[in-house]
Amino acid sequence: MSLDALERLLSGAKRIVALTGAGVSTESGIPDFRSANNGLWEEHDPMEIASIGGFHRDPRGFYAFWGERFGELREKRPNATHRLLAALEREGALTSVITQNIDGLHHAAGSERVLEVHGSYRRARCLGCRATTPLEDVVRRVASGEAPECSCGALIKPDVVLFGEMLPPAFALAERYTRECDVMLVLGSSLTVHPVAGLVPLAHSSGAKVGIVNRDPGPYDELAEVTLHAELGASMTELAERLGLSLR
Ligand code: ZN
Repeated sequence: MSLDALERLLSGAKRIVALTGAGVSTESGIPDFRSANNGLWEEHDPMEIASIGGFHRDPRGFYAFWGERFGELREKRPNATHRLLAALEREGALTSVITQNIDGLHHAAGSERVLEVHGSYRRARCLGCRATTPLEDVVRRVASGEAPECSCGALIKPDVVLFGEMLPPAFALAERYTRECDVMLVLGSSLTVHPVAGLVPLAHSSGAKVGIVNRDPGPYDELAEVTLHAELGASMTELAERLGLSLR
């Protein structure tokens, strides 16, 4: 299908919810940490380095491994897709960006209504009292030999969702916005990670129209009103032009 159909879907919409996945960030040079085919998992066992069990077995090793990788995210910049969604929010047509990405690039592009359902690499959170601290502070403390522990005595964990963990409270809000939207625009998600992927059939059964743009086919293509298998950057730039939105 073409960009024409996507343009028609969005131009009449009043309560768009965007659901974004790793494909949105790869064009900003960010590898897909959770994907099985990014090379990382060939050398490391995800159940050790990306699971809550692995974190508890070796908190310091966990910070040493991820501290460096998360640090690289600070230099990344938002791209056309992030900017398009921020522009739709400024126009009042978009109620929420639900993102599986932890890189903060939707905020960097100017989006304010962002639900980070897999957490954020910028924060760490105490597993006891739930207090948050900037992640880089904890990384620095661990590097200088301190334990990643809160003043309350509990462990401090990067505030990203690991394998084996529940989703944060933001997910309940994501479900609410999904039920209330008139269009769900899915960008760069393979829709294989649950429960987030389940938001797409939820939107559809709540009466919303679904548009999907992703490089590869996915499990909910049949249910979507519009499906576009394309690279995001070029498509979103062209779409912004057609909708008269500035990608500042
Ligand atoms: Zn605490």
